[in-house]
Amino acid sequence: MRHTKIVATIGPATEADSEIDALLAAGVDVFRINFSHGTRDGHRRMSERVRARAARAGRIVAVLQDLAGPKIRIGALADGPSVDVATGATLCIATGEFLGSADRVSTTFAPLANAVSPGDELMLDDGRIALRVVESNGSEIVTRVEHGGALCAHKGISARGVDFPLSALTERDVDDLEYGLTLGVDFVGLSFVQTGDDLRRAREVAHRAGVTDVALVAKIERPQAIDRFDDILDAADGVMVARGDLGLEIPLAQVPRVQKDLTRRARAAAVPVIVATEVLDTMRRAPRPTRAEVSDAANAVADGADAIMLSGETAVGSYPALAVQTLDEVIRDAERSPPSVAVGGEVGHRHGRALCEAAVRLAATAEASAIVAVTRSGATARQLAALRPHIPIHAVTDQTAVARRLTLVRGVGPIVVATDLLEMGALKQELVVRGTVSAGDAVAFVRVHDDLARADANFVELQRF
Ligand code: PEP
Repeated sequence: MRHTKIVATIGPATEADSEIDALLAAGVDVFRINFSHGTRDGHRRMSERVRARAARAGRIVAVLQDLAGPKIRIGALADGPSVDVATGATLCIATGEFLGSADRVSTTFAPLANAVSPGDELMLDDGRIALRVVESNGSEIVTRVEHGGALCAHKGISARGVDFPLSALTERDVDDLEYGLTLGVDFVGLSFVQTGDDLRRAREVAHRAGVTDVALVAKIERPQAIDRFDDILDAADGVMVARGDLGLEIPLAQVPRVQKDLTRRARAAAVPVIVATEVLDTMRRAPRPTRAEVSDAANAVADGADAIMLSGETAVGSYPALAVQTLDEVIRDAERSPPSVAVGGEVGHRHGRALCEAAVRLAATAEASAIVAVTRSGATARQLAALRPHIPIHAVTDQTAVARRLTLVRGVGPIVVATDLLEMGALKQELVVRGTVSAGDAVAFVRVHDDLARADANFVELQRF
């Protein structure tokens, strides 16, 4: 079993049933639907298609709705899909909704022109075009183009070091979140999170929509989020090191160090962490990644990330299934070395951690082939995963929603059984019938209950089949 999970973004390249089937076969655990692009109808179709094809393949997978967040963008262009912006030229960015040209483009984000000062650097289109602010009159920014290029409509604008009064949850995000919940998404990703309050606000929205246990993934892509990471970890069900925007919002050279630090701290808090963006970027256009890309993915595994995400590779690339197969191979090989950082994290009760530590130790000493956790909420499985055993954790639950959320957690293979099969005798037979355990296998079992007085529901056990 591969321990580190694969998140794949679906898009125009992967909308067809056959493409979803190919991604499932290649081993995708979580399908990301990016709400920055596409239409509601398209998002609904993708979500329904993933559910239908996964059910057909007998796979437990999750759907991650990724909200657009307060991304600042330029508007539409007058002449065609792109304009050439020349190095050394002057480019004005004006507040409004007009059609832009090579020397004047629009943005609907009014605070930008007030927030920037002469000398600030602005970047367009993920940093492909760099501008230096010459002056701003509060509604129009005059810039000098330091690195030019082809500029397409609706590309992002980032302004490193400029503080905006931005809420991570825009009005559109609130609408999209409510819509996503009607689709029954398993995770909701929040872009440009700055504090734990951003997540608490999203939880309130979900609550008002009647969903009391929404699973929120905080995308870490602003310096404010790095500063308040502990608060965010407290409020999040998962975090994503969103290296695309992060690499614009902080100096690019700092991204690897910050990534390692965030991964270590998320692991210590037992919060699943996804490493995202440009993982196998070359595979958007070519059937092979670069050595550097492979090395980057393997290092994320060595750092102990729970999951690695593909974006354009699977959403718009020419080799979506091959990109997943390639990542699968890279991860499997990287997992031959143990993770290089210390484990930690406590999920729920102290006695739960103690039982899980005992199970991991027991399994290691007895050379067991797997650990089986009966888990109603998923907490026992997450606690075991935080200890990063080198053998698979089979997480048995009677709740499909719990199983789907465990698809993001490193080393955990979720299994859904009928409630009456959660009783140990019946469960052991069921695992044999399913082929999860085979004759000769030694397996450690662990079960944790809130109430430590329940001896029948708090135990660690070892059995050879
Ligand atoms: C990122 O910026 O790295 C990211 C994952 O976010 P998005 O793709 O939504 O820009």
